[in-house]
Amino acid sequence: MKIADGIHLIASGNLGVNLTHPLDCNAFAVEYSEGVFLIDAGVGQDPRPQLPAGKITHLLLTHYHLDHAGGAHWLENHLPDLAVCCSPQTAQAVATADQQAISLTAAKRAGVYPNHFPFHPCPISLILQPNESLTLGDTIVQAIPTPGHSRDMYTYLVKQPDRTMLFPGDTFFHSGRIVLQDVWDCDVPAYANTLRRINTLEFDMLFPGHGLWSLANGRRHIASAMDYVNKLLLPPNLV
Ligand SMILES: [Zn+2]
Repeated sequence: MKIADGIHLIASGNLGVNLTHPLDCNAFAVEYSEGVFLIDAGVGQDPRPQLPAGKITHLLLTHYHLDHAGGAHWLENHLPDLAVCCSPQTAQAVATADQQAISLTAAKRAGVYPNHFPFHPCPISLILQPNESLTLGDTIVQAIPTPGHSRDMYTYLVKQPDRTMLFPGDTFFHSGRIVLQDVWDCDVPAYANTLRRINTLEFDMLFPGHGLWSLANGRRHIASAMDYVNKLLLPPNLV
């Protein structure tokens, strides 16, 4: 579903606009001068009805949770030119389908996912080092480490000639909300520092991993989060 010039929503579940599988995150496709790259993959349903035309060259994973990385396996198998890119920690967990590392064991115990829900391993083509920039034609993608929601989280800052977009995964959402969870790698002090760092970034468009997005003035949402962080608090949870 096209949501702006050259930007498409390719997955979105119950916490979004119910375009695809109920458990899907928001996943996006962004056109650039030489093709299309994807941000996140959803849980692993066939995404073809939602994929835009054009050669899909890269999949950038924000983090290893199943609703974001579960679909990497399908995409890697069906798109021959695809390079799957992510942080070193995400790569380790996704390449080995480590259900403990990604807290899938805990999430299944809590009933977030059905017990039989699969998580297939996916080889990673390109490990992005913290703060590394990837140049894709006319577009520069910077991988910014933003631990807190999970240890491996990358936020992608995407600069195109006429606009700047932020893809924070599950780091923060519309209205400055966050998702703290009782999982092994969720970290309150790291989360606060991450929000402080994001507050230093310049961006206009905001595309979070769940809920609504913002086509302009996206910084107002991190400003809302900072109202809490500046008082040594964390913002309310998304759910
Ligand atoms: Zn997550």
